[in-house]
Amino acid sequence: MSFLSAIAVISLSLMFPVLLSLRKTGVPGIASFCAACLLTALAASVTLAASVVPAWFHTVFGGALIVTAGLLILRGFLQFLGRNPLGAWPIVAILSGVIVILLVFSYAGNSHSARIVMGNGILSLTCVLIGAAILRHWPREQAIAPYMLFCCVMVFLVAILHAFRVATVATGLDVMDGALPPPIWTTAFLAARLLIMPLFFLGIILMLHGWMLANLRRIIAHDDLTGALSRRAFMTAFEQMFSTAAGSRQQTAFMLLDLDRFKQINDLHGHAGGDAALVHFTRIVKKVLDGRGILGRLGGEEFGIALANTGRLDAAEIAEAICTAVRTTPTRADKGTEIGLTVSIGIAMADPGGSLADVMVQADMALYEAKALGRDRLSMAGSLHAASVASARALAGAAAQMRAAVGPAHSLSSTG
Ligand code: GH3
Ligand code: MG
Ligand code: MG
Repeated sequence: MSFLSAIAVISLSLMFPVLLSLRKTGVPGIASFCAACLLTALAASVTLAASVVPAWFHTVFGGALIVTAGLLILRGFLQFLGRNPLGAWPIVAILSGVIVILLVFSYAGNSHSARIVMGNGILSLTCVLIGAAILRHWPREQAIAPYMLFCCVMVFLVAILHAFRVATVATGLDVMDGALPPPIWTTAFLAARLLIMPLFFLGIILMLHGWMLANLRRIIAHDDLTGALSRRAFMTAFEQMFSTAAGSRQQTAFMLLDLDRFKQINDLHGHAGGDAALVHFTRIVKKVLDGRGILGRLGGEEFGIALANTGRLDAAEIAEAICTAVRTTPTRADKGTEIGLTVSIGIAMADPGGSLADVMVQADMALYEAKALGRDRLSMAGSLHAASVASARALAGAAAQMRAAVGPAHSLSSTG
């Protein structure tokens, strides 16, 4: 058994610096997990020294160490999952209670069996609490879910093992007689407990790595000023949308949006005012989109929107709504001065069979036309009216009229 204890001590001691190195990443709960790993390694060292220390010391000191580690793990998980963590005082209070109980059982009861039943019972309960906390606050982040599941299984396994130990000792199946060799389940219990601990911390390390990776992916995929998708993430999502639409022969609309005379905004309100205007603009566009399509910042004050399963009329209507909302919703600079914004939009339809590059070039040309026609408007690539003048707006108006005309007729026929 001392051989297994040594393996547990060595592997936990190796995991400690790995956990410690993750502190710089600022992942929530890392300090608690580090402390818990160190205390678990110490507890395993006490088991290693079981033959040379008094039994009561082994139970009380080892028990206190492992219960503290358990409470710190619980605290770490609550912090990691963004919940109210277990404070330092409740931990001290619970720990003091546990030490008093173990001491009373060691001296007053002076029964080895009673000590083991009590110590293992408390540990089993701590593990059940940790497992229940993880299950209750199960994370939405898919990237860490498998590692959380692994930790959860490990923690419940430890709870079951300790409960089993309580049952075998309490019912007398496990005779606490030093003269006799321990029964097979005692050996199995001690071996399993020692080996599960390093596995559990390995699960925690993998979970923290999963979190960091997901966090990095999220940061890379989003523009840090506006929160819109980054150019790369937008293009990837657009390509995916495009190929799915091509398979089902659906139309995809692409819009190129460019804020009008943005240099002047910067000149008038300073760069910070310009930044605030970009954030404000993104908020308005997201509100108009209301969950439809994807929005990306393609560079500077230029944005892209891709809308799956959207025809020309719908796209023109959405673009018109964006122009109106941006024009009629000014924002304020730091000094309180009003910043009025307008946007020009070029729209192109990504028909199945075409290429993404073509669509973007067409939208760029349409945007150029919208700018040339006086800004604060949309222009539709390949539109019957685009070459003549500004009738993308009329197109959107016609779409709205058509809807108004179709609406009552439809409701009449359905009620009649
Ligand atoms: P137009 O109507 O023709 O689009 O005029 P414009 O002034 O918007 O023209 P242009 O595209 O040449 O200028 C864009 C300006 O946007 C230039 C740059 O200083 C500013 N800009 C780009 N990125 C940022 C940013 O992140 N923050 C701020 N404040 N300004 C930015
Ligand atoms: Mg511009
Ligand atoms: Mg520009």
